[in-house]
Amino acid sequence: MYHSILDTSVEFIKGVGPTKADVLKKDLGLFTFRDMLAHYPFRYIDRTKFYKINQINPDSQYIQIIGRVISKKVIGDKRVKRIIAVFKDETGIMELVWFQSLKWVDTNIQVGVAYVAFGKPNLFNGTFSISHPEMELYQNRHLGRGNLTLQPVYNSTEKLKKFNLDSKGIQKLIAGLLDQVIPQVTEDLPQYILDKYQLPDKRTALLNIHFPKNQQDLNAAERRLKFEELFYIQLQLLHNKQLRQLKFKGASFELVGEKVNRFYKEFLPFELTNAQKRVVKEIRIDTQRGVQMNRLVQGDVGSGKTAVALMSMLLANDNGYQACMMAPTEILARQHYASIISLVSDDLVKVAILTGNTKKKERNILHEQLENGEIDILIGTHALIEDKVQFKNLGLVVIDEQHRFGVEQRAKLWRKNVIPPHILVMTATPIPRTLAMTLYGDLDVSVIDELPAGRKPIETRHLYEGQRLRMFGFMKQEIAKGRQVYIVYPLIKESEKLDLLHLEAGIEQLSYQFPRPDYQMSIVHGQMPNADKQFEMQQFIEGKSHIMVATTVIEVGVNVPNASVMVIENAERFGLSQLHQLRGRVGRGAEQSFCILMSGNKLSKEGRIRLETMVKTNNGFEISEIDLQLRGPGDITGTQQSGVLELKLADLASDQIILSEARNTVIALFEDDPQLDKPENSMLKAYLQKLQRGISFDKIS
Ligand code: ADP
Ligand code: MG
Repeated sequence: MYHSILDTSVEFIKGVGPTKADVLKKDLGLFTFRDMLAHYPFRYIDRTKFYKINQINPDSQYIQIIGRVISKKVIGDKRVKRIIAVFKDETGIMELVWFQSLKWVDTNIQVGVAYVAFGKPNLFNGTFSISHPEMELYQNRHLGRGNLTLQPVYNSTEKLKKFNLDSKGIQKLIAGLLDQVIPQVTEDLPQYILDKYQLPDKRTALLNIHFPKNQQDLNAAERRLKFEELFYIQLQLLHNKQLRQLKFKGASFELVGEKVNRFYKEFLPFELTNAQKRVVKEIRIDTQRGVQMNRLVQGDVGSGKTAVALMSMLLANDNGYQACMMAPTEILARQHYASIISLVSDDLVKVAILTGNTKKKERNILHEQLENGEIDILIGTHALIEDKVQFKNLGLVVIDEQHRFGVEQRAKLWRKNVIPPHILVMTATPIPRTLAMTLYGDLDVSVIDELPAGRKPIETRHLYEGQRLRMFGFMKQEIAKGRQVYIVYPLIKESEKLDLLHLEAGIEQLSYQFPRPDYQMSIVHGQMPNADKQFEMQQFIEGKSHIMVATTVIEVGVNVPNASVMVIENAERFGLSQLHQLRGRVGRGAEQSFCILMSGNKLSKEGRIRLETMVKTNNGFEISEIDLQLRGPGDITGTQQSGVLELKLADLASDQIILSEARNTVIALFEDDPQLDKPENSMLKAYLQKLQRGISFDKIS
């Protein structure tokens, strides 16, 4: 690859030098000319708009005002010496204040002269004032010499400001740099794509993102740069997918045999929903192609993912392969195991479970049965991916709750067989479309967007602390009907001690309201030994206790169909997706279920929106979209996967359309020119080759 001038160190930008370059690198991560040009403004100030003094209010941001200086005086002594000028227009007066450069101000700012003053007003002793305003002779502006329109505002840091690199200083650097290098900026999107989406070329876009002449130019520049950013992410993701498909042949499940057929006809206790049927079909098509499947199945809690997983595993079995299913926790693994063996019989398939707690002796037997192929389906935790666990012929791996399994662990699974097994990832946390396209852009995605018929939607209420007795009364009513109740308390690391106190106080109050022996209560929280947790959980699952008091350990997966009420304490402190997950613990049986959100009277705006959203809708996808708007993508996914989300300009919450366009463009591109051999795509090929060098396959996938 040739070396571009844009790879030059920032040190060589006019006015920078080694010292400032160091700070630019450390504070802003700007190393090269290219980085500097991509240090986009984070907002713009409209310098075509003028305000009158009587329009200023305490919320006013940076504004400009035309007026005349009518008096000027120096006050204070050495340390707090300052100049205050009174500034007047036809609507009122205000003050301009300087603490520094007093000499300059004294000679240059003249009484009786008209200026354009620019800055952020503050209210001080009943008068608005601007400190250190930018001053420009009105006459100059009037004659059109000051050519200001939308003024860019750049991120800077305290340290950079000490080197005169505040927003204004950075603006100057970038202006100079653009002058110098713009002719050498090369286009990095093929012309036909620019034409199709009517995007400006790279040079125009760079000039206009920094120094737009008007809002339209700015919008076009932003759209182009966002498109480019998202396009290149999709290019990498879909390229990885292509590579993986080339590299990894997959087992071909051609046969729908006895196991699937018998299960469907004899065992399955219900009719599959249309969504389940569709997803099973997608999996079926995907596993026949002789290419490794990597599919994400998204389905809200209760949408029936287990049946889909089981049918896929039986399909593997019918074709002579074993299958396994991994869950993130022991409790979940046990539940999967229980629900799967309740759906099949031993003469249909042999199902086993393996977790960290499996005894050595049992484990040895399991290992043997896996190796000689006696076991068809293995369910378990991380223990499954240990090297000691060897299969005779593993054809399919189902991973429940993807976000807890890293990429590395996925890769480890692939090595469990000569032909890597097909991978089916299941998640019950609906992910907004844009996130799915970005985070899982290299996976195929299936969505189970329909709940089994006859489910009664959970009724959700929001109650304040003052209505607590009503809540207890309601609990008693439900328990009298034979139902069970969950009560969940927040337990958050930062406030753990206080939270535990609340939990204790809550338990005390509950023991008073629900005394033994009429009522039995199970208590589960993270600090308890595993065995105790298991025991308490089991009591509740078997219906031996009426109330399950818990911190969020029950968040994922437990299934107690007889539980009909979910009470969430301090609900305002939980995130939306957490609330939705918790609510999903009820509504699993035939009875009407309820979710009660308890909160204090004081709610933040966001907290209120979260609770209102919960009351309003049961739809996990809708909730995930609102969650994305509230929190942004980084928080939703956790830091682990934020790599792909370090976007400069594009915003996954608001740029859905551009993202779809970018992704569709790349899909069409690979369909039309899989090897990127066409001359118009050569820049894209070069880019991917450059990425490829030195990166082993395991790392990119
Ligand atoms: P999740 O998607 O949350 O894992 P499950 O697979 O645990 O959901 O299914 C939730 C409940 O719905 C289970 O009791 C299951 O037996 C039942 N179920 C699944 N599919 C159907 C269906 N098509 N019709 C009726 N009940 C179903
Ligand atoms: Mg499930």
